[in-house]
Amino acid sequence: MKSPARMLLAVPCALALVAAPTTAWSADQPKPTSTAKPTSTAKTTTATTTDKAKSAAKVAPVDCVKVKCIALTFDDGPGKYADKLLDTFKKYKAKGTFFLEGQYVKSRPAFAKRMAAEGHDLGNHSYTHPHLREVSEDKIREELTKTQDIVKQVTGKSPTMIRPPYGEMDDRVKAIAAEMGMPIVLWNGGSRDWATKNEKAIYDEVLKNAKRDGVILMHDWVEQTVKVMPKLLTALQKQGYHVVAVSSLRGAKDLKAADIYPVGSEKDEDLSGDTPAEGAESAESPSDGQ
Ligand SMILES: [Zn+2]
Repeated sequence: MKSPARMLLAVPCALALVAAPTTAWSADQPKPTSTAKPTSTAKTTTATTTDKAKSAAKVAPVDCVKVKCIALTFDDGPGKYADKLLDTFKKYKAKGTFFLEGQYVKSRPAFAKRMAAEGHDLGNHSYTHPHLREVSEDKIREELTKTQDIVKQVTGKSPTMIRPPYGEMDDRVKAIAAEMGMPIVLWNGGSRDWATKNEKAIYDEVLKNAKRDGVILMHDWVEQTVKVMPKLLTALQKQGYHVVAVSSLRGAKDLKAADIYPVGSEKDEDLSGDTPAEGAESAESPSDGQ
């Protein structure tokens, strides 16, 4: 039995960050550091600042070595509120990471397509969400490859990372991840959105666990998560965070097959309390929603 309680492992760090002076960052303005350096002629630097800012927002990738980044990750989707969530991410010029279940990619292909088209990271979260440690090696392989296949078929892109359901894995899961050439991405901060289903509680929990290069676990099937997202993104951006996909974080760029990220997350027993427990109300059945 897993305790649902989660230790506040990220708190000292998060408090330090909250207390640190942060540069207010507007979603409409890219960081000055991401724009081109002034050129030798003063004339060109004064011209078309707005145009430059606009194009920089589109093309310049966020450099998380230079700026403070955080990744919000969404499991079990595409959930039925994914469309609204994608609208919000677009408005705030933020990127997310979606750990998709093959069965829901099949039932909501339009949402999965949008995620891929709008530049979010796609991850593999199995086909039917079993406890991988309790099924055969063949079943693990089937769950992961079936999901890989349907995501590629629907979106034209293959998931680039695996997050096993409940964050549970063993040597067989790692070996299959190695075989498939993908890293395993867990999390180092929860939102407990599935448990509280309360906008303020979700907002408070995420801000409490926020830290530089943090990976936060959320769910796009929780309506309150999607509803509170504008407020949450505003708060994170005010604290100087760039909300990016996992692949943009420091240390995530060169992950190799079967690497586990974030570093240390595998050994953190308390993280299991962040994910819906067996029997908890979970993602809705594939037949409802759209
Ligand atoms: Zn899950």
